[in-house]
Amino acid sequence: MNRLAAPGPSIRARRFHVAGAPLVLAAALFVSMFVSTRVHAEDVTISGSVRDAKTRAPVAGAIVEISDTTGGDRDSVSSDANGLWSFTFKTSLVDGTSAAPDRVDLRQNYPNPFNPSTVIGFTVRTAGRMRIAVHNSLGQLLDEKAAFLTPGGYTIRWSTRGPAGMLFYSIEANGIRATRKMVQLDGGGGGGGGGLGDFALSHSISTLHSLGKVSGAHRITAKRWDYEPDSVTVADGTTADIFLHTVHDQAFVIDLHNDVLEKIMGSGYELGLRHTVNHTDIPRLREGGVDAQLFSVYVPQEHYPDAYAESRRIILAFEDQVARNSGDLGEARKPDEIAGLNGQGKITGVLLLEGGYAIENSLENLKALEAAGVSAMTITWNDSTPWAVSAGDSRSETVGFSNFGKDVIRTMDSLSIVIDVSHTGIKTIEDILAVTRNPIIASHSGVWSLRHHTRNLTDSQIVSIARRGGVIGVVFYPSFLSYDNHADIQTVIQHIDYIVRLVGVDYVALGSDFDGMNPPARGLEDVSKFPALTLALLQHGYAHA
Ligand SMILES: [Zn+2]
Repeated sequence: MNRLAAPGPSIRARRFHVAGAPLVLAAALFVSMFVSTRVHAEDVTISGSVRDAKTRAPVAGAIVEISDTTGGDRDSVSSDANGLWSFTFKTSLVDGTSAAPDRVDLRQNYPNPFNPSTVIGFTVRTAGRMRIAVHNSLGQLLDEKAAFLTPGGYTIRWSTRGPAGMLFYSIEANGIRATRKMVQLDGGGGGGGGGLGDFALSHSISTLHSLGKVSGAHRITAKRWDYEPDSVTVADGTTADIFLHTVHDQAFVIDLHNDVLEKIMGSGYELGLRHTVNHTDIPRLREGGVDAQLFSVYVPQEHYPDAYAESRRIILAFEDQVARNSGDLGEARKPDEIAGLNGQGKITGVLLLEGGYAIENSLENLKALEAAGVSAMTITWNDSTPWAVSAGDSRSETVGFSNFGKDVIRTMDSLSIVIDVSHTGIKTIEDILAVTRNPIIASHSGVWSLRHHTRNLTDSQIVSIARRGGVIGVVFYPSFLSYDNHADIQTVIQHIDYIVRLVGVDYVALGSDFDGMNPPARGLEDVSKFPALTLALLQHGYAHA
């Protein structure tokens, strides 16, 4: 064995490849895979491990694909429970058979009723203990065989035992199990005879012709369903580190609604510290892989006579948090600033004024708030303003907004302030759509058809928002999602699914409402839990765009 020293790590950090960007986060997001090549007299073994660098835990069940650098022949192994894998190929034998770790085939004599035996063929990829068991359709074990086998193609013969019928044989090796069925004809093999023969080697594995060069380069790709695949090229006798992102961390994660700013007012709550109270702080946003967050500037009712001034104080409190956490948090006022801040490895905060009463019926106040950093505005909160009716108002279906309301919308359009219609009345939303020229959003709402709640959107509202190029941020608020006020990740996915089926995936976003609800949905207890939603969406069949 001849093991050579490692060259430097090869890092591919697509999202963070910005000159001078702090890679603190990036380093935590990667899976590392250690690769080495061992040269024997007649074969080459490549081995390594797959690990999640965020937790340093081994990644089991990752598929490690080995190919030559021309992209020709390829083969793969999977990492074991310790994240370890190895792959051996012979350099002197060539047989051209493609092999997968669970490759099993059946060379059955059926329908020849006079041949009482069946040949089962399978391929062993990694040396290890192999077991084969044959059951009848009642699940009774008819026979089994086990042996330690080296890589290669094998056959084993089944001779009739017991009555005719459907039989099942299972082959297990290296943690992989494959089951097939076969028809046993009544070949007269009653009594105590028949059953499994002995394992017979049919050919040694050497599937990778062009890999079978001792001197060569190999492309190693590691992937798992919840990770983005990535590759490195290793030459024989070299070692390398490869790094992968989880699908969640690779995705750009934006949440359209968070109310933590209400929690920091007058409380001394520091976003930079990790807390066990509330739902939001920077360490948990990092853990949650959140790239951009719309922070609600929400003025509670007790400040109504003072709503404009209070909204200015909330904005200052946010900017104070940005200043004190400037390495982690940035403020974006225009969409292109989001990408820039994200490229610097920062969580991007965007200010959303929640409730039009904060402008105190003044377009000048609206302009001043925009100049102070407000990029979006929820037209109403639960109560109506003098110029716009809310969803909770009994007039929601019949009364929309006043002429001044139209001026507000036109001013928002001219300043490119995003219009948010969560909380806003049914007729008001129709009025808004008749005036605005821009797409609108619902920053934190659910689906009316699944839960009749005034905070949710009807099918026609969802269609209207989508037709105009807007998006719906699906809220995680349990009482908006289900009739029994209990919700979990699957409940959130039901609302996402509904909108996807109605208008397509391009019009669905997340609008958690963290720190605006209590208690939160099960499994989505705070902002650190977004990855759990991504995993559930992947398991549900969604793919990373
Ligand atoms: Zn709200």
